[in-house]
Amino acid sequence: MDTIIEIVYFLSAAVFIIGLKQMSSPVTARQGIVWAGIAMVIASLFTFGDPAVLHNTGNLGWMVLAIVMGSAIAYVTAKRVEMTNMPQMIAIYNGMGGGAAAAIAAVELVRVSGGAEAPETTVMVLAVLGAIIGAVSFSGSAIAFAKLQGLINKTIRLPLHMMINLAMFAGALALGGMMAFSGQVDPTILLIFFALTLIFGVMFTLPIGGADMPVVISLFNALTGLAVAFEGFVLQNAAMIIAGTVVGSSGTLLTQLMAKAMNRPISNVLFSSFGSATGETAEEEVAGSMKEIQGNDAAIMMAYATKVIIVPGYGMAVAQAQHKLKELEALLEDRGVTVKYAIHPVAGRMPGHMNVLLAEAGVDYDKIMDLDEINPEFPTAEVALVIGANDVVNPVARSNPDSPIYGMPILDADKAQNTIVIKRGRGAGFSGIENHLFYADNTRMLYGDGQKAVAELIAGVKQL
Ligand code: NDP
Repeated sequence: MDTIIEIVYFLSAAVFIIGLKQMSSPVTARQGIVWAGIAMVIASLFTFGDPAVLHNTGNLGWMVLAIVMGSAIAYVTAKRVEMTNMPQMIAIYNGMGGGAAAAIAAVELVRVSGGAEAPETTVMVLAVLGAIIGAVSFSGSAIAFAKLQGLINKTIRLPLHMMINLAMFAGALALGGMMAFSGQVDPTILLIFFALTLIFGVMFTLPIGGADMPVVISLFNALTGLAVAFEGFVLQNAAMIIAGTVVGSSGTLLTQLMAKAMNRPISNVLFSSFGSATGETAEEEVAGSMKEIQGNDAAIMMAYATKVIIVPGYGMAVAQAQHKLKELEALLEDRGVTVKYAIHPVAGRMPGHMNVLLAEAGVDYDKIMDLDEINPEFPTAEVALVIGANDVVNPVARSNPDSPIYGMPILDADKAQNTIVIKRGRGAGFSGIENHLFYADNTRMLYGDGQKAVAELIAGVKQL
C-alpha cells in the first residue's frame, strides 16, 4: 500500500505543477485550478490509505468531520465572496495553511514532550522552523484579513516596535533551537515558544499599510509553502514536500513581481507605511485645472475614433463596471473602432485583478494587453479611457524623483491624443498623491461612479 500511496503522491505533485503552469495564461487558468484541485482531492483521499492514519481509529471520525466542515465552509464562502473581497479571502485561506503547518509541528513537539522518543535533530529543526514560519503566517494573515476587511483601519506602531519584534523573534528562535538540539520538549517552553511566534506575526503585520496587504499576503503565502514543505519532511510526505516547495517558490516570485511592478523593494513594503489608502486627496499644487466632459460628448469622441484604449483600475473593480465596458466595446467595434485594454501589473488591489474581472465579463484575451505591449500604441489612439485608475497612469512616476511612486512603470495614457478619465470626484489613488494627468490639456474628466458613467457612454454611442 505504501508504494501505491507514494506513486499517487508523486502523480498528484506532477498534476499540481501542470495546473500551476496552466494558471500562467488566462486562457488555461480555470482549467489549471481544476486540475490542481483534483490532484489535492486524490492526494488527500489516498492519505487515508496510510496504515498510520487507518489504525488511528480514534481520530478518524474527527478527521472526516473536520474535512467535511472545512470543505462546506470553503464552498459556501467562495461562492458568495465579492471579487473586491478576494484579497481577504486569500488571506484567510493562506493563514489556514500556515496554521495547519504549525499545528502539525505542534503535534510532533507535544508528542515528544509527552515522553515519546524525539526524531533525529534534522527533523526536529525542520519541525521547529515549520512551526515558526507557519505560526507567523497564520497570525500575520489574520491581521492582513482584518486590515483588508476594514476591521483594523490604522497602522499601529508601538514605541521601539522594531526592537520588540527582534527580541520576540530571537526569543522564539532560541527556544526552538533549544528544543530541536536537546531533543527534549518542556510543555511550558513549548507554550511560550508558540505564544512568541504568534504574537510576532501580529506585531510584524500591524505597522504595514492596509493597501500593501496584497504584497504581504503573497509573502505569507510563500512562507506557508515553505512551512508545509518543512512539515512534509517531518511527516515524510512527498506530496506535502513538493506542493509546499511549489507554493513557496511561486509565492516568492509573485512577491518579487509585485514589488518590481511598484518599483519598491520588499523592505520598503514591509518596514514603511506607504500610501494613504484612505481615498483622500493629498495637498499638492498642480498647474492647470481639471476639465469636465459630459457623457454624450465623450461618447462622440470615442465613436468617431479609430482606436480606443481602455485603462481599468481599482475603481472599475469597486464599481463592477466590467460588464458595461464589454457592452461599450461591442458597440464601438460594430462602428469599426479598434478597442484594446491596457493592464498594469499592479492595477487594482491584487495581481491579475483586472484580468480576472475582464475575463468574467467575457472580454477576449487577445484584446487584453500588458504594459510593455500597449505603451507604444498610446500615441496612435485617439482616446484613452481611464476608468477608476489613478496611480498606474500618474506621469509623476516618470518625472518627479521626490514622488513616492517615482520609478514605477506606468501606462502612458497621457500620450494618447485625448484622455477621458472616469472617477467619482477628487479622490486620490492608493499612494495618496495628486495625478498630473487629470490636469493635462488633452484630459477630460467624466465624473461619476464607473458603472453609471460607462452606461452614459453606451447610451451616447447608441444615439449616434
Ligand atoms: P488607485 O487606487 O490608484 O486609484 C483608484 C481610483 O479609482 C481612485 O482615484 C478613485 O477616485 C477611483 N474610484 C474609486 N471608486 C470608484 C468608483 N466606484 N467609480 C469610479 N472610480 C472610482 O488604482 P490603480 O488601479 O490605478 O492603482 C493601484 C494601486 O494599488 C497602485 O498604487 C498599486 O501600487 C497599489 N497596489 C496594488 C496591488 C496589486 O497587487 N494590484 C497590491 C498593493 C497595492 P474617486 O474616489 O475620485 O472615485
